[in-house]
Formats: sequence, structure tokens, C-alpha cells
Amino acid sequence: MKTIGLIGGMSWESSSLYYQIINREIQQRLGGVHSSKCIMYSVDFGEIAKLQHDADWDRLGLLMADAARSLEKGGADCIVLCTNTMHKLAENITASVSIPLLHIADGTAKCIQNDGIEKVGLLATKFTMEGEFMRNKYLDHGIITIIPNKNDRQIVHDIIYHELVKGIVLPSSLIKYQNIIDELRDRGAQGIISGCTEIELLVRPQDIAVPLYETTKIHANAAVDWALG
Ligand code: GLU
Repeated sequence: MKTIGLIGGMSWESSSLYYQIINREIQQRLGGVHSSKCIMYSVDFGEIAKLQHDADWDRLGLLMADAARSLEKGGADCIVLCTNTMHKLAENITASVSIPLLHIADGTAKCIQNDGIEKVGLLATKFTMEGEFMRNKYLDHGIITIIPNKNDRQIVHDIIYHELVKGIVLPSSLIKYQNIIDELRDRGAQGIISGCTEIELLVRPQDIAVPLYETTKIHANAAVDWALG
């Protein structure tokens, strides 16, 4: 089994999901009391979120590169960056280490393709929805993403930063997300990418009428495939 290097803490609420999913999956696949060989470098999200909102992506790039180098030095065989948003800095990571980065969109795109779906709604932070880095990555896989209107993007973003990263899960916020998802369906979305690693704390597949692509679960499972592959 290879050692998975996780860059976590963005937020720790979703990193704990990664840790749980990866270990449960390894135990299920190998049986007995097997568990995952992994190292997590967990950051202070207060510091990260401030730099994001100040648009200091240069500093964030340095921090992500440092985290990746620490994991490599510590013996990690790959890097799993436990957040969609920070994949904006994927190249800073790949340039600083010689071990591979398992990109969050690759596994998700594969699941969408397997379902024969071409157009999906993307729910994520404003950085991910409004930037090109993630939407272009899906486009490279032949998948078109559509995003909510400006007002709805703000609602999706605020629920992530004011509630989900603090572990606050409100039924009223689920209703807001469901309404936004309905609007994306009306515009042709055949499925929805839960494109922020905390969204699956709030929205479950049974809460919506189209397939939900949960990036945390898919990414964590892809890491297990890689570690055992
Ligand atoms: N975990 C979130 C994501 O997947 C948002 C927090 C962050 O900005 O990293 O994008």
C-alpha cells in the first residue's frame, strides 16, 4: 500500500470526511483491521480564507507548495489536496514536488462520463465557479459546466464560508441549495457537481432529482484506488 499525502484543513470539516472515507474504504477492500497509510498536513483555515478573500494567490501558492514539500519529505507517495478551490494552485504544487497530485476533477469527470452526461451544474465557492481553472479542467474531459446567477453564487458561497466550514448544517440552507439546483436543471443541467468539499455535509444524493457528483467521496475513493493500485 502506498502512503497518501493529504493537504487538509480547508476546512477540517471536510478533511475529516476524507480521513473517514479513505480508512473505511481500505478496511472494506483489504478486510481485517487494515487502515490507510497516510499523512495529513492540516493548515489554519482562518489564515487561508483571509488570503483567498484578499486575492493573495501568490502567498497561497507558496503555502500550498510548502505543504506539498513537507508531505513528500515525510514519505508521502502522492498528494491529495482536500479542497476544490485550492486546485486553482495545482500547478504550484506539481512544480514543487516529484510525487503526483491526484486532481480532484479527474475522478469526478470519469463518473460523469460513465453516466453519459455532458452538461452539469457546478456548485462551489465563488473562486471555483467564477474562475476558469476548474471549468476548463472539466471541459478538457468534454464536460460543460453551468453556474448559478450572480445572486445565487453569493448565496452558495456564503453558506460554505459562514456555515459549512464551521460544521453548521441548516435545513433552510438545504432549501436554498435545492432551489438553485432546480434553476440549473431548468437551464439544462443533467447532473450537479458538489464542487466544494463541504457541500456534501448539506446536500445528499436523495435531496435532488438529478445525479449528484460528490467531489469529496469521489476524490477519497480515487486516492484509495491509487494507493492500492
Ligand atoms: N473546501 C472548499 C472547496 O472544496 C472550500 C474551502 C476552500 O476555500 O478551500 O472548495
